[in-house]
Amino acid sequence: MKPQLEQTEFWVGTFHGSHDGTKAKVTATRDDTRPEPYAWTCTCGASRSFPTEHDVFPTAWQHTHPTRFDRLRSCAARRFRAFR
Ligand SMILES: [Zn+2]
Repeated sequence: MKPQLEQTEFWVGTFHGSHDGTKAKVTATRDDTRPEPYAWTCTCGASRSFPTEHDVFPTAWQHTHPTRFDRLRSCAARRFRAFR
């Protein structure tokens, strides 16, 4: 399903992931009429805006993959316990 864009809005990217136990989709857009042209909106209602393209991707990825590092940590902890 394509998100409805304003006439001045351009699609920049879509991120699929999950957080809080539910699937989440972040849509990033660029709109030069906004004070901060780059922005993303999540299906959960969260949104962020940025002056440059640079910050859009890492933050959008982080938002849709917040448990990635937690999972790695618990995995490492399990292995550590088994090793002892
Ligand atoms: Zn979200």
